[in-house]
Amino acid sequence: PRTGLAAELRSLEGAQYGRYKSLIGRWELPGGETLELVRGQADPYAPPARIAVHVLGELAALPEDLWRTPTRRRALASYLVRQAARAVGGEKALRVDAGGQEVLERSSCTVSGADGSVTLRLGAALPGRGRRIDGREAERLLCQVLPRAAERALRYGSLDAERARRFVETVEDSVALRDALEGRGLVGFVAEGAVLPRRSGVDDRPAAGEGVVPFVSPAELRVTVELPHAGAVSGMGVPEGVNLVVGGGFHGKSTLLRALETGIWDHVPGDGRELVVSRAETVKLRAEDGRRVERVDVHAFVDHLPDGSDTSDFSTQNASGSTSQAASLCEAVEAGARVLLIDEDTAATNLMIRDARMQTLVAKDREPLTPLVDSIRSLHRDHGVSTVLVMGGSGDYLEVADRVVMMDAYRPSDVTARAREIASVPTGRRAEAESFPGVVARVPDPASLDAEVRGRPRIRARGEDVLSFGDHEVDLRAVEQIADPRQVTGIGLALELMVRGGLLDGRRTLAEALDLLDEALADEPTAALLTIRDEDFAAPRRFETAAAVNRVRGLRMLRS
Ligand code: ADP
Ligand code: MG
Repeated sequence: PRTGLAAELRSLEGAQYGRYKSLIGRWELPGGETLELVRGQADPYAPPARIAVHVLGELAALPEDLWRTPTRRRALASYLVRQAARAVGGEKALRVDAGGQEVLERSSCTVSGADGSVTLRLGAALPGRGRRIDGREAERLLCQVLPRAAERALRYGSLDAERARRFVETVEDSVALRDALEGRGLVGFVAEGAVLPRRSGVDDRPAAGEGVVPFVSPAELRVTVELPHAGAVSGMGVPEGVNLVVGGGFHGKSTLLRALETGIWDHVPGDGRELVVSRAETVKLRAEDGRRVERVDVHAFVDHLPDGSDTSDFSTQNASGSTSQAASLCEAVEAGARVLLIDEDTAATNLMIRDARMQTLVAKDREPLTPLVDSIRSLHRDHGVSTVLVMGGSGDYLEVADRVVMMDAYRPSDVTARAREIASVPTGRRAEAESFPGVVARVPDPASLDAEVRGRPRIRARGEDVLSFGDHEVDLRAVEQIADPRQVTGIGLALELMVRGGLLDGRRTLAEALDLLDEALADEPTAALLTIRDEDFAAPRRFETAAAVNRVRGLRMLRS
């Protein structure tokens, strides 16, 4: 690395803004850290420059047991970057992406498994006066504020060791709990005392105050799991099969389901959901009218459309509520989902239910839809896909549910026995399907994605939930398990990796390409995506990446 960054910045005082680019490369800082200008900034209004601060292992001096495993490294990095964000504090020009309640793998901070060295990556709006370099301010930011923040946040000696350790152990417990689910035949777990409600729809921190009811498990569903740090932890185990959550409006059904939805991620200490987990292959579904669908076999749910189209090979630019949800279900199973979550609040009613009276009034051959209630058992029995449904408005599911949990004033109870009793009295409803036939694998045509990428490697996150993809916009608003806006950037990079890295080759199915993507991201998820572009991103799951592929308007699928 070069030395003398401060002097160099001073000498650039008043120079053309573009000369910042002459600084690209590595600089040794007086404290021993290395500052790397990875990407310059064309003008004061362009996206901020990218900077990395590298701290060698012996300088960071982080105890090895805090970074020995990938899980601990992810947790430690998440802790460090939160400290770094706090340490740069009010400096608007320095943008450290610390993240929210989830502990995600992110590009903003990584800890090396080889030697415990730390890299902090951030955006820096390089200071200028008009189109001239403000060298003095740049020196203050890059040679004083940033090094001081690095010293305070990225060295073990200046950290709160107790809190750092608790952070790492919290995440490790959560991972251990999630890993324990499958062996116990569970799809989810909600610990006693967990705090599920959030402060508001736009504030993901835990709700606080006297009105908050901590979670209490029904005795019938209580299980105890031994965790590496917390020891024996009890809570409600959500079993494999068909699970129904019932109860009056405003009694906490959706809140419980949402906790399971985000149980695919680990949470920071104090979040309230540290010990609320669900299987990694859990996918939330919802209706999303207007979305695109490309060659999905939805005939299990939709058949005999009035326009005569073939629903075993169904495409549309503008799906209805029910067809969009049917397609999303099939796509999730295609991508490998083992648990599906559905909330009546966001589901298409006509895809969920069709009761006895409606069966009498509207003959089956006049109704294209076959409700999920008739294939949900087969989904589990024949395909190993469990479900958790929130359904307070219809009793038809009582017949097909393995478990029924009732929420009453935020307290769950197991009402399975009573539900069976009630369901044993026939309603006259006739089943409209025998089984779920499974999904048809599709092969994405890379040319249909490539055309928009080549020469224009700009898949960009726009706002919180839109990805611009060449000329198209991919709307991810209905993809509810995206936990962080930076994951949208990560999805964009993953798509680019799939196309440019040849993972999609016109022969591989989408599921096979996603397997390869998972392999590429297995060891160091951020490293693989950083080879595409240095940006602030959080690593996405395969399911959200698949959801984005499925929503690209220009996408063509091949089918054998
Ligand atoms: P439902 O889906 O049954 O209609 P919601 O889950 O939407 O109910 O919850 C209704 C309201 O109750 C929400 O404002 C939510 O934040 C709040 N709430 C949910 N669970 C709890 C709880 N355990 N303690 C306090 N408030 C809660
Ligand atoms: Mg609700």
